[in-house]
Amino acid sequence: MTQHDSDAIPQRRVLVTDIPGPRSKELASRRGRAVAQGVSSVTQVYVDDAAGAIVRDVDGNCLIDLGSGIAVTSIGHAVPAVVQAVGEQVARFTHTCFMVAPYEGYVAVCEELADLTPGGHEKRSALFNSGAEAVENAVKIARHATGRQAVAVFDHAYHGRTNLTMALTAKNFPYKDRFGPFAPEVYRAPMSYPLRDPEGMTGEQAAARAIDQLSVQVGADNLACVLIEPIQGEGGFVVPAPGFLPVLASWCAEHGIVFVADEIQSGFARTGAWFASEHEGVVPDLVTTAKGMAAGMPLAAVTGRAGLMDSVHPGGLGGTYGGNPVACAAALAAIRTMRELDLPAAARRIEAQVRPRLESMAKQHAAVADVRGLGAMLAIELASPDDLRPDAGAAQAVARTCHANGVIVLTCGTWGNVVRLLPPLVIGDELLEEGLDVLERAVTEVLR
Ligand SMILES: *Cc1c(COP(=O)(O)O)cnc(C)c1O
Repeated sequence: MTQHDSDAIPQRRVLVTDIPGPRSKELASRRGRAVAQGVSSVTQVYVDDAAGAIVRDVDGNCLIDLGSGIAVTSIGHAVPAVVQAVGEQVARFTHTCFMVAPYEGYVAVCEELADLTPGGHEKRSALFNSGAEAVENAVKIARHATGRQAVAVFDHAYHGRTNLTMALTAKNFPYKDRFGPFAPEVYRAPMSYPLRDPEGMTGEQAAARAIDQLSVQVGADNLACVLIEPIQGEGGFVVPAPGFLPVLASWCAEHGIVFVADEIQSGFARTGAWFASEHEGVVPDLVTTAKGMAAGMPLAAVTGRAGLMDSVHPGGLGGTYGGNPVACAAALAAIRTMRELDLPAAARRIEAQVRPRLESMAKQHAAVADVRGLGAMLAIELASPDDLRPDAGAAQAVARTCHANGVIVLTCGTWGNVVRLLPPLVIGDELLEEGLDVLERAVTEVLR
């Protein structure tokens, strides 16, 4: 088997044409005639190859990847251990359907999930294809186990694009607009959002605000689950004030409500711990995972307390492709690599390098209203210094300027005014520094 030679793509930013170059433009015009415009792309370059933290486009430009395909390729592109594991599995068998003829890889991934997710209790997992599917199944399990129907979610939440997960997602445009009607029995509570909450509001106070609203408007005894991203992803990398998550979790425990942590973006070493819930010692009843787990192969999971998970009758959970053997092989190799390279520590090193750079941008530009995040999940929020009016235009302009200069960054946020960084956790110091230099120049150019 030929192995991807990652030396073939030096870990350097190289621009040989304008971005996008002529071959990317050619593909864009073909795309326009074949691909539905509802599926859009953040950058205009078409990818030819990738390795480590570099994406090479079809014109030969090498871009620094500070997005990891939305927190997916946390161990970098084309990692030899994953390439080999996937190649071997493809050659053995690509599919039997776990519900028809099971195989070891699925079981081994569930063992890893039991080991890595927070809490030393007895756990079970079920595997799926996408994050949205995992979230849907977490809700199914919570409803089945409790015999209750109501689901609590938060402002700025993002949980996916299927019908139930659209209902769970907070932001209308582009995710929900004219796609209704949405699934019922979904209730939204206020999130802890330190930048925009009343000054001095603690996490405990923000939790009391949410709990009061849910108690009054829904009733604790009607709630099957409280579903929350410990650090919000698409909604703007909002980090709740300390105390918010633990108070919510203990309220859930008191009232028999299943506490579900959606760690699809924040999980698998991204925030400097294996899971973001750990930063506050929170042990969720159920955890949903996907993005960072399998190095880009589609795989997702619900992991949780054995009693909850096994309350569902045989045949109640599943799907044709869920826990596909190739995706499982990729996950096992990816997780092994994360352990070997101690990627939670790598994420903390990235934070130590990036945060001071972002803070210095905030010091120079009043419109950088906030620097937040944890580990290698960091962001700046751009807003008017007077009244915190969100400045989506500036965030989009910063991102576009970065792309034009060979650095992939993403935006996010309810108002689209947050520039977020999700570098591969294996990125070298110098390459990361170069990416940050480009970002800083873009911020200066846009906010000057
Ligand atoms: C991306 C994401 C999802 C949805 O995952 P898909 O694989 O895109 O369906 C759900 N929750 C969170 C927190 C996410 O970041």
